Amino acid sequence: MSADLLAALRAAVGTGQVLTHEDPTADLSAWERDWRGRAHGRALAVVRPGRTEEVAAVVRACAAGGVSLVPQGGNTGLVVGSVPDGSGSQVVLSLSRMNRVRSLDTANLTVTVEAGCVLQQLQQAAEQASLLFPLSLAAEGSCTIGGNLATNAGGTQVLRYGNARDLCLGLEVVTAQGEVWQGLSGLRKDNTGYDLRDLFIGSEGTLGVITAATLKLYPRPAARLTAWAAVPSLDAAVQLLGLAHQHLGAGLTGFEVMGQFALELVARHMPQLRVPFWQSAPYGVLLENSDSESETHARLRFEGLLEAALMQGCVTDAVVAESLSQAQQLWHIRESIPLAQAQEGLNIKHDISIPVSRIPAFCAETDALLQREIPGVRLVNFGHLGDGNLHYNVQAPAEADGSAFLQTEEERVNKLVFDAVAKYDGSISAEHGIGSLKAGKLPLYKDPVALGLMRAIKQALDPKNTMNPGRVLTP
Ligand code: FAD
Ligand code: ZN
Repeated sequence: MSADLLAALRAAVGTGQVLTHEDPTADLSAWERDWRGRAHGRALAVVRPGRTEEVAAVVRACAAGGVSLVPQGGNTGLVVGSVPDGSGSQVVLSLSRMNRVRSLDTANLTVTVEAGCVLQQLQQAAEQASLLFPLSLAAEGSCTIGGNLATNAGGTQVLRYGNARDLCLGLEVVTAQGEVWQGLSGLRKDNTGYDLRDLFIGSEGTLGVITAATLKLYPRPAARLTAWAAVPSLDAAVQLLGLAHQHLGAGLTGFEVMGQFALELVARHMPQLRVPFWQSAPYGVLLENSDSESETHARLRFEGLLEAALMQGCVTDAVVAESLSQAQQLWHIRESIPLAQAQEGLNIKHDISIPVSRIPAFCAETDALLQREIPGVRLVNFGHLGDGNLHYNVQAPAEADGSAFLQTEEERVNKLVFDAVAKYDGSISAEHGIGSLKAGKLPLYKDPVALGLMRAIKQALDPKNTMNPGRVLTP
């Protein structure tokens, strides 16, 4: 690194907050390796600002030196977007020290937090004010609100509260030129031109650095109940979703589907978790009912729903959690699928969305196609059916070696799955984003006019291409 840049970075954030490989005692691997272990890059430096003005100074210093920046929050992203490439020429800008809750307005139902605030801390701050911040995902103990907004994260409550974008009212952003856009409005109505907030949300660090956000809060439900249902098919699961909307209305806050093989993997690798009905049903569904009245009311409505579903034959067996700890155990099974899958071996992941009504036909066709092309292939299919979002993962045949399978089959499997997604008017990334993992695929599946507009925006906001280059858009 040039002496000038090092001096400028140290002046911006303080010597102790600039880590480089030149210091033999510094271990930068935590910032250089992605969560799934798919990429291990090399950083020119890791810089850890504590305030917005410091972020701006870092961005200006890097821009002056023509050095590119990779913003990083909790580094839990799943598409290789938050770690540097292998060139040793990119600066990682870690937001983790900027983790304060700046203010909470109970009358306006908003909270303003810094980008490095861990999602769980934000949930707890809302809880302390007897309110709810509903974004919820398995990485919530380490992902940050900046990363959630930069990837427009989804999770398990989207069908009621929307994704990160829907929960955000205002942003503070450091632009690629190092200016600070002060857009922390708590307004629910503001029609004063182009929506810059929505431009930065989901931009994965390629347009600017989110340094703070004003977010929506909600009343806490009086009761939350969880049920597990065994369903005979995906068609039945979609039918159950319709019934759940009808019976629970806005009380329906979670609807997760899990294929039998996904549940078998949890039963095999985590035998301490008792997975209900997995041997007897092709799919399990986890439902959550949040009730504004009382637990008794919630239970009555849940029972009404499940009775109707049993009568109609879209549910063959069901259990309603009797206590909070039982509910947590059921959710824990759902959240353990990715880990169980990793213990089984390497696999090819897809995070796709399809209109809910077309999911059964998509799966029937694509499952059969993959079985035909790769005999013995195993499908780990689970996800947020309520939003039409499936984690449609492809595991090697039982006797095959996972890494060899990934090497030889990944490209072919991706093409088969993404072509099928396109045929069913779906998206190749529902909630994880594009990162560098899918940047090469985007031109194949995104509308060309949309892609052209995206390139024009990138060129206008970051003409020197120093903000997370190679992510989302390929050169
Ligand atoms: P990082 O991984 O650090 O960064 C992600 C991207 O955002 C990168 O491109 C980075 O450059 C950019 N970025 C980060 N911070 C900023 C900033 N302040 N300004 C500008 N750009 C920034 N996702 C879902 O949507 N739903 C799920 O249910 C879900 N479950 C998950 C479960 C597990 C176990 C794991 C590991 C991940 C899961 N994810 C899920 C992936 C999800 O994208 C992340 O967990 C989360 O949203 C990323 O936050 P982060 O702070 O870790 O961001
Ligand atoms: Zn998910």
